[in-house]
Amino acid sequence: MSLRNKVQLIVYPDRLGGDLKALREIVDSHLSSAIGGLHILPLYPSNADSGFSPLTHKEVDPVYGSWDDVEALSSKYDLCLDLTINHISDESVEFKDFLQHGMQSEYADLFIHVDQLGEITPDDLAKIHIRKEKEPFREITFGDGSTDRVWCTFTEHQIDLNYNSPRTYALMEDYIRFLTARGVKLFRLDAFGYTTKKIGTSCFLVEPDVYEILRWVNGVAAENDAEILPEVHDHSSYQYAIALHGMRPYGFALPPLLLHSLLDADSTYLKHWLRMCPRNQITVLDTHDGICIPDVEGVLPTEKIQDLIHNVSQRSADPILRRSAANIHSVGAIYQLTCTYYDALKQNDDAYIAARAIQLFAPGIPQIYYVGWLAGENDVESADNSDDPREINRHRYSREQVDAAVRKPVVRRLMRMMEFRSNYPAFDGRFALQYSNDSSVAMSWRNDEHYCELFVDLIFKKSTIRYADPRSGRTLTIKC
Ligand code: BGC
Repeated sequence: MSLRNKVQLIVYPDRLGGDLKALREIVDSHLSSAIGGLHILPLYPSNADSGFSPLTHKEVDPVYGSWDDVEALSSKYDLCLDLTINHISDESVEFKDFLQHGMQSEYADLFIHVDQLGEITPDDLAKIHIRKEKEPFREITFGDGSTDRVWCTFTEHQIDLNYNSPRTYALMEDYIRFLTARGVKLFRLDAFGYTTKKIGTSCFLVEPDVYEILRWVNGVAAENDAEILPEVHDHSSYQYAIALHGMRPYGFALPPLLLHSLLDADSTYLKHWLRMCPRNQITVLDTHDGICIPDVEGVLPTEKIQDLIHNVSQRSADPILRRSAANIHSVGAIYQLTCTYYDALKQNDDAYIAARAIQLFAPGIPQIYYVGWLAGENDVESADNSDDPREINRHRYSREQVDAAVRKPVVRRLMRMMEFRSNYPAFDGRFALQYSNDSSVAMSWRNDEHYCELFVDLIFKKSTIRYADPRSGRTLTIKC
């Protein structure tokens, strides 16, 4: 069964109310008519990277709740979960067995033995797309005292999996079957770009290998009635390639593109993108990661990206540099801007509502991050107390804080639009971009007698929706 064409909420299992039960109460009481799906960020036991170092995908960390809690949610909302396809925790049963038994372990093949890859010259090393200040290898010592080096792209706890081994495919298939039986409809394929290791290349998104892996995962997911959402931050052409391969791409160009459009009151590049963006995409303005810059390369000219970085950096935690030794091609080597989307728009309610209105009218299924739902401001204190600047946009809301936040006018305005997007039938029809001048944007959807249009004035940040009400035969207006 395909995904409902309704808004989805992106949430941590424990940052809205404290656990999955509280999450369900919050979502049911505030959002049941505003969303049709939920992306719950990793809820598995994990020992690093806020959930992205899972020991397994077959358990829920008891701190968050249980599979019963998950199934209560998946029975009502389309459920998206992460499949951390690139790596597994160094505390997993598999890796611990490998540490104990070395090459005799039945799991030895799951990991990438760096010293068996042949000579790796300094030139080869320089080409590898890295995510930390050192080479992506970790020294390990086996039970008998001998040593080895395994590939490890992210933190030292996240051990990369070997896609040249049938064992890895068997593990992923097992996870997919298990999770779809618990109601998962969409798998976010975390960091899949790093699965391709070929010495002499960037070892990132190596073609055609990467599409072979994706096609395989897509096939297994489809057999189990689920879809896949491969996650990659790079040149926007990759999202088109993912769409051409029949999977759902992320519309990751939209967050920086809309910031440019609103901060500069310029719709030219936005319209170019809206005309051609993949129609089956999932759109976001914010996620648990920052606002990624490489995604808008090729969509916005370099000098506009530079201006945008300069503008938003003043309200962002330290920008994260793109760490690729030889191949720094993102503008100013900036990889992502870390701040809430509301802060990126200077906490201007009208600008924020305009951004969300455009997202909700853009082709694709819109996802709204929980901090974005509540128009959250930068959590500077959490960021300062952590070595991860992304904490600035990962606030932990108590039930009371949620109840207070939903009373803010900006949140009420957003929820009204979310309800409209999730329930008005025109969005199942055809999208059209309409004429407007360079400082405004006009978009419409038609499905038989259901018709709606959005007009946004980017200078005055005013957004208006008009829609046909077939019952009364009248055109109604929402001043967003
Ligand atoms: C996730 C990040 C995470 C990384 C490693 C990314 O794509 O979105 O939050 O740090 O993968 O799992």
